[in-house]
Amino acid sequence: MGNAATKTNYASSTSMRKKVCIIPIGTIDKEILHYTQKELEDRFNVKIDIGRQLEDPTYAYHKHKKQYHSKKILKRIHKSRLTGYDRILGIADVDLYVLERTFVFGEAEIKKKVAVISLTRLRQEFYDLPEDFTLFRKRIIIEAVHELGHTYGLRHCTNNKCVMFLSNTISDTDHKGADLCSNCRKNHGR
Ligand SMILES: [Zn+2]
Ligand SMILES: [Zn+2]
Repeated sequence: MGNAATKTNYASSTSMRKKVCIIPIGTIDKEILHYTQKELEDRFNVKIDIGRQLEDPTYAYHKHKKQYHSKKILKRIHKSRLTGYDRILGIADVDLYVLERTFVFGEAEIKKKVAVISLTRLRQEFYDLPEDFTLFRKRIIIEAVHELGHTYGLRHCTNNKCVMFLSNTISDTDHKGADLCSNCRKNHGR
């Protein structure tokens, strides 16, 4: 609905609706990228492009933690910011951490409108459980909507059925689902 503005070409019109770009951080399955693109386009009602892949995030690796500092990846994404895009979502397949937490499923910088999610902890195999591709894909959308939601100014929500609820565990993610609660929907202006 209401996507007419995105149909105009790249004329230098400043009134053109700004778009979202998904950037693979290292090698990410194309099918996953396209699925995420389509789901996010439907949910945010915005045109989403898939940008050129960034290098493997070895620059963010912490030898002792054996994890990757998500802030450094966000910085790298921000540096690569392509003109014409208002928001960028990176998709990585390495385990992410921030200084205050042992791990994160993703992180966003609300002001810079950049975000990153990690696929690593979304697979059942990470928890020594049998592969479940449907569940894996579902989790990707939940985390992607959550982090992209931050770039739209949405903060954490206390409703544990709301996508903006902060997941501490994968069961939090499975419990909350990919939809905004009515409060967040109001704040989001839709
Ligand atoms: Zn969050
Ligand atoms: Zn909410």
